[in-house]
Amino acid sequence: MRISLRVQGRGAGVSPTNRFERIDVEWDGDFLDDEPDLLDRKIPTIYLKDSSRSMISYNDSPDISIKAGVSPYRGCEHGCCYCFARPFHEYLGFNAGLDFESQILVKPQAPSLLRQELMSRSYEPQTLAMSGITDVYQPIERKLELTRRCLEVLVEFRNPVGIITKNHLVTRDIDLLKELARLNAARVDISVTTLDNALSARMEPRASAPHKRLLAIEACARAGIPVGVMVSPVIPGLTDHEIPAILQAARRAGAQYANSIIVRLPGAVQPIFLDWLKRHFPLRSDHVESQIRQMRNGRLNDPRFFHRYSPCGPRAEQIESLFELHKRKLGFVASPKLDISHFRRPGQQMNLFP
Ligand code: SF4
Repeated sequence: MRISLRVQGRGAGVSPTNRFERIDVEWDGDFLDDEPDLLDRKIPTIYLKDSSRSMISYNDSPDISIKAGVSPYRGCEHGCCYCFARPFHEYLGFNAGLDFESQILVKPQAPSLLRQELMSRSYEPQTLAMSGITDVYQPIERKLELTRRCLEVLVEFRNPVGIITKNHLVTRDIDLLKELARLNAARVDISVTTLDNALSARMEPRASAPHKRLLAIEACARAGIPVGVMVSPVIPGLTDHEIPAILQAARRAGAQYANSIIVRLPGAVQPIFLDWLKRHFPLRSDHVESQIRQMRNGRLNDPRFFHRYSPCGPRAEQIESLFELHKRKLGFVASPKLDISHFRRPGQQMNLFP
C-alpha cells in the first residue's frame, strides 16, 4: 500500500509507479514517523519544454467521435482526481499521480507547428478538438497564450474547433471563437461536474469554481457561440443526485446542448481516485466504489471499445434515464455538427473550376 500524501491544492495524494518503469522509490515508514511534515506539504508546478515536432494528434478508436486534436500542453494542472488522461503521462516517463498535475510539458512552437501542418497538402481538413486529453485553458495558459495563438491559426484557416474546458479563461478568446462561430466552425463545451464549490475544490482543485463555469457558458451564449454543458464525469453516490440541478443551471445560463459520461477509471487512475475518495469521504468511499463496480461487472474499468464509455446494469440505467429525462424536459437540443466547407489555406488561390 502506497503512503498517501496530503498535498495542498492537488487532486492526487498518491503517485502510482509508472507502469513502464522497472525501478521505483517508496518512502520508508520509520523515516516518515520522524519527519511527519513531509506528508503534509506543497508541491510546486514545474514547466518543461516539449520538443514535439507535430501538433495534431490523431485517434482511430472506433468508439470516440473526436478523430483529431490539438493541445499546447501535456499534463494538466487542474488535477482532477478522476481524470482519465492521467495514464498518458506515463508514456512520457512521469507518474499519473502528482507528476501529471505538477510536471507540465509546454510546446512553445505549438502555433507555428499547427500552421505548418494545416498548410500541408496531406492535411485533410476536419474538426480539431482542443482539450480532448488535457485542458488547453489550464492556469499557465493565462500567461503563455499558446492556446489563443493556436486559435488565431485556426481562424486564419477557418478550421472548425471544438473546445472542452473547466476553465473560465476560455471567455478571454471569445473574439476569436465568434469569428469561427459565424462560419459554424466553433463550439464550446463547459464541463460541470457539481455545483458544490467545496466538493469541486477538493475534486478539481485548480479548475474554475462551478459558478465561474456557468458564467463562461453565459458569456459564450451571449456572444453567439454554440455552447453546451458536459456533466462529466458523473460519480455514482457522490454527484449523480446533482444532475437535474446542474442541467437546470446550465440551461438557464444559456447552454444549448448537454452530454454526460459516467466516471471511468483506467489503469493508474484507480488507486489515485480510491485514495482521494478515502481521504475526503471515508464514510462513503466503500459505497461509491461498490456502485462503480456494479456498473462494470465487478471491475473499476472495462477497457473494451464500446464498453468503456457505456457502463451497464440498473444503476447505470437509472443515472442515464435521469439525465435524459431532464435534458428533454429543459429543451436541450442535439450537439451541433461543425462545417468544414469554409476551410482555406491562406495565400492559395481558390479553385473556381473544380
Ligand atoms: S481538466 Fe480535464 S484534463 Fe485537466 S485534470 Fe481535469 S479532467 Fe483531466
